[in-house]
Amino acid sequence: MEIQNVELIICDWEGCVSEPGGGRVPWDTNAIAKLSDLINQMRKIKGCPSFVLCTGRQFPYGEAALQAVNAFWDDKPSILENGAGLYYPTTKEYIWNPAITDETDKVMVDVRRKAFEAIKTFGGVRELGKEYCISLNPAEDMPVEELYHQILKELDEFGDIIEITHSKSAVDITPKGVNKGSGVQFLSKVTGIALKDMVGIGDTRGDLPMLSLVGHPTGPANADENVRQLAEYVSPFKTTRGVIDIIQRYTGIQFKLT
Ligand SMILES: [Mg+2]
Repeated sequence: MEIQNVELIICDWEGCVSEPGGGRVPWDTNAIAKLSDLINQMRKIKGCPSFVLCTGRQFPYGEAALQAVNAFWDDKPSILENGAGLYYPTTKEYIWNPAITDETDKVMVDVRRKAFEAIKTFGGVRELGKEYCISLNPAEDMPVEELYHQILKELDEFGDIIEITHSKSAVDITPKGVNKGSGVQFLSKVTGIALKDMVGIGDTRGDLPMLSLVGHPTGPANADENVRQLAEYVSPFKTTRGVIDIIQRYTGIQFKLT
């Protein structure tokens, strides 16, 4: 295929680089080592696109994930906490999504308190380490949809200032306007890289706001149907191997994948 003008590859973490399963499935460390080698090659080639993450994970997790795939040397920021902020691994600096205002900042204190009280009532645990977004994991015997509906009721009064969604493993509460779509727009603005020159890699519904904005939406073989429908290219390989295949396709780097 003809190599298009691609300046940035933006990749989801869970279900793309790491195995899906809410952090309870081991990483394919052999494949991750290969991805790390490939990203190391990319950095040495002049004009080769950069690789950044776009994930719901918290900042400290993002920092470790970027190190795991050798993508912490670049001056391009990654999108963390579902678009709440951008993180620069080389300087450890961060900037918050302009959708987060002083008003949001104040109200999120009350949202957090009520959400944590709800977890005491309904069971489950909150994910530690998030600055703005709140992720609640249901108790083992409770379907995530059930906790989602309970939280919707409990936090009804904050409807104008927050968004509540859920993944396969957690209920996610974010300030309104914060998602991977506004995250990637913010990333485009601060880097000056046009959305059309970005490759997006995602696997589930939460990635759609990002994938629908970038010029080249893609996914690994395990991507959900709604991602496959939107994607310009779906790799025949799953997760990490799919990401390696997608990078090769859009950069033209020949890299032996065994
Ligand atoms: Mg994912």
